[in-house]
Amino acid sequence: MTIWICKTCGAQHAPSANSPDHCAICEDERQYVGAAGQEWIDRDTINATHANDWREIEPGLSGIGLTPTIGIGQRALLVQTPDGNVLWDCVPMVDGKTVDKIRALGGLSAITFSHPHFYTGMVEWSEALGGVPIKLPEADLDNVMRPSSLIEPWSGDVLEVLPGVTVHRLGGHFTGSSVLEWAAGAGGKGAILVGDTIQVAPDPNWVSFMRSYPNMIPLPAREVRRIADRAAALRFDRIYGGWWDRVVQANGQDVVARSAARYVRALD
Ligand SMILES: [Zn+2]
Repeated sequence: MTIWICKTCGAQHAPSANSPDHCAICEDERQYVGAAGQEWIDRDTINATHANDWREIEPGLSGIGLTPTIGIGQRALLVQTPDGNVLWDCVPMVDGKTVDKIRALGGLSAITFSHPHFYTGMVEWSEALGGVPIKLPEADLDNVMRPSSLIEPWSGDVLEVLPGVTVHRLGGHFTGSSVLEWAAGAGGKGAILVGDTIQVAPDPNWVSFMRSYPNMIPLPAREVRRIADRAAALRFDRIYGGWWDRVVQANGQDVVARSAARYVRALD
């Protein structure tokens, strides 16, 4: 049995002898199947040709990205706290070096997500680190391509993962789209880790909010206002988007409020 990974979204699928016929993640209107049609890469090939890149970002926060990238090209974030470590988002595979490094830092208490496009290699990550609970919002369980008993669904709008590490389900892009509020981030001013629940723009003075980024499907004005209002209730100065270079270093509260107002004006 082989673990097949969709080349376009990076999702690991349930092990099978032959590659699956479809990737349901990519056939959804929020993703896409490329012009060349559905393409797969098997797990063993990735192991031989790819590695994880580890970067320390600020005290208590490291990034882990697959290089060269596969799929959407995001990097995961490791939040370290005195009470345990949390992995935010994921990449399509984990290598031995990364496992050793995380174990040396005390292992993982939980794996949590911004949204299903980043579920990718979550089951492999969890198993490699001793069966770490994978916390997924109930609303998005249909997007799990590799089922596992390690997945622990949660419901409602707020999940306290560890002291100072809280996941808030803001919705929008997906019903379960979430952000992680990290109290100790940005030197104690607070940070939110957002994936693309809130998308940091190439100019980090702005963010955006979309139902689909590749297909350019916007969200309704009421949804943008609702997400911005929920974000305004969180304590943060910095915003970590889903990619290495997508970071709002400071004044994140102001950036979200101004960006939501601009978006709603454009829709009107
Ligand atoms: Zn896919």
